[in-house]
Amino acid sequence: MEKIKLGISTCLLGENVRYDGGHKLDRFLTDTLGQYVEYVPVCPEVECGLPIPREAMHLEGNPDSPRLVTTRTKKDMTDSMVQWARKRVIDLEKEDLCGFIFKSDSPSSGMERVKVYNEKGMPVKKGVGMFARILMEHFPLLPVEDEGRLHDPKLRDNFIERIFALKRWREVLGRKESRGNVVDFHARHKLLILSHSPKHYQTMGKLVAKAKDLPLKELYQKYQTLLMESLYSKTSPRKNANVLQHMMGYFKELLSSDEKQELLEVIENYRKEYIPLIVPITLINHYVRKYDQPYLKQQVYLNPHPLELQLRNHV
Ligand code: SF4
Repeated sequence: MEKIKLGISTCLLGENVRYDGGHKLDRFLTDTLGQYVEYVPVCPEVECGLPIPREAMHLEGNPDSPRLVTTRTKKDMTDSMVQWARKRVIDLEKEDLCGFIFKSDSPSSGMERVKVYNEKGMPVKKGVGMFARILMEHFPLLPVEDEGRLHDPKLRDNFIERIFALKRWREVLGRKESRGNVVDFHARHKLLILSHSPKHYQTMGKLVAKAKDLPLKELYQKYQTLLMESLYSKTSPRKNANVLQHMMGYFKELLSSDEKQELLEVIENYRKEYIPLIVPITLINHYVRKYDQPYLKQQVYLNPHPLELQLRNHV
């Protein structure tokens, strides 16, 4: 797979673009995830024409439609930022991004819980950075996260699963449109989807089953929306345990009663969160390889992202 293109707030790459001339280098993003992705850096404040260093800014007013204002001289930067951001998101369409990683808490780049000050100078953490809001409205299905939330292993696993899934889907979009390609993609992603959202699993199954009755464009559009919505739902030990038990069913006739007992215990220990997901997954992978189980062998759920990222060691 070629590298995944992700937008990112420039300061997270270690570039000295912050208002104080500093950066916010995040080593996981550059050194670890960076091996698999190609970053497209975006610094809204510098790209809309502000110098380095510059006066700090914050959001003021109504949290749903705040103004971007410099903190000391009270210069209102809202209009120039909005004008620039609307053009920039159109430029970004060309990049074919599979996700965006924002700098948390920034009045320009923060994706949630950014401070918005009221007329008395009191902050509420209910805002969205000015550029982040415009980007998320322009690309509503794009996976987005901020570097702070990515320290949470479950959110990290979810985000990275989504960007890899979107990249695989984009590869399908890059081929000649055909119902068979959608059906094949769905067949490989069924258990991944089930681990996130049993409801979407049902709906998408029905959509694919009637694929031949739908115009191709409509099929692709509906499938893409449901795919991104389904993966946005968080997995849980209970949902994963259900998928693992479902997989175990494929070995019913092949495992000895001791092996079955062991696998059941491992799944149960994972469900109770005594052990991480990687343990039952490794055991199932072992049986998939040993018995060359054709349906499970193609399931992305067993290897949704590179093992080296160790994401399932912590969830
Ligand atoms: S938070 Fe956003 S605007 Fe601020 S320095 Fe980083 S990239 Fe630039």
